[in-house]
Amino acid sequence: MIIVPEKEIANLMTREAAFTAVEQVFASMAAKTAYNFPVVREAIGHADALYGFKSGFDRAALNLGLKSGGYWPGNAEKGLTNHQSTIFLFDADTGQCRALVGGNLLTALRTAAASAVSVAHLARQDSRVLGIVGAGHQAAFQLRAVAEQRPFERIVAWNRTTDKLEPLRAVADDLGLAFEAVSLDELGAASDVIVTITSSFDAILTAKQVKPGTHVACMGTDTKGKQEVENALIGHATVFTDEVAQSVTIGECQHAIYDLTIRPEDITEIGAVINGTHKGRTSQSEITLFDGTGVGLQDLAVAATVVELALRQGVATEVEI
Ligand code: NAD
Repeated sequence: MIIVPEKEIANLMTREAAFTAVEQVFASMAAKTAYNFPVVREAIGHADALYGFKSGFDRAALNLGLKSGGYWPGNAEKGLTNHQSTIFLFDADTGQCRALVGGNLLTALRTAAASAVSVAHLARQDSRVLGIVGAGHQAAFQLRAVAEQRPFERIVAWNRTTDKLEPLRAVADDLGLAFEAVSLDELGAASDVIVTITSSFDAILTAKQVKPGTHVACMGTDTKGKQEVENALIGHATVFTDEVAQSVTIGECQHAIYDLTIRPEDITEIGAVINGTHKGRTSQSEITLFDGTGVGLQDLAVAATVVELALRQGVATEVEI
């Protein structure tokens, strides 16, 4: 069995490799050669933790496995990340455990890669202003990955506490992009692409605030009850997702499905656009919205890439099981 510990991931994985892995697996999901198993998520009644599994099988790439982990709210006090995850890959021919890979950084990279893939395939080519809603742990990863997809000139950002935007400003500086902290009205009026990456349980961004032609990547909602955008915005948009089953249950679309603003058949898997079986954006004025719920197959795809890179670079630890 190969072990790639968390501390090695930053030296091995790149945004480009994450983009390729995620784009490929989204295409395989739409082609029905890869599928996710039902998500398990439980409050374990200890340390206030939420623990679960995301798993699946990619028959084309032969990636079989799971990401195990969750949220431990007391970790920050111990100097640890609250979100903890580990990815296990199994040999699809024998069922033997093939690899154990640290999943914390990979989760941020694969999540940012998902919105980047959506921007690459759905945003207007002439997009120049990128809006970021939220300034938590994931936001900087989102900014770096999405900024690479179009020749953006300016970043506008909103967070409920403005001081938390300073690390994002530093990332924009590093990328040589102008940065401005703005109100949500200003953000919607200026942005060609908007990424929402908060843990909000109420809609933050309204339909009125988003101008025609915008691409919105809703990345924060990955659990029942969370919500970032008004249902009316989803109703006005052409809606895409990583996986419809997750979108309608734990993703941003759950509320718009519940109040019948849209139906599951109104939602297209982004893989269909990648595969060319859906035309994606059809006009400059259309609002496209990507509901990135975060699927287990994304984790397996990036973990398999890391294992390959670790073997190639001779930094994988091999143990007998
Ligand atoms: P974090 O705790 O570091 O930051 C949370 C952010 O949400 C902060 O900017 C905070 O100000 C904002 N926020 C919280 N409640 C809000 C409210 N009511 N109104 C406005 N803003 C609010 O979290 P993070 O690690 O950056 O993750 C952000 C979200 O992304 C979480 O919901 C997380 O579960 C989700 N996530 C999704 C995926 C995916 O694949 N889709 C992957 C990883 C994380």
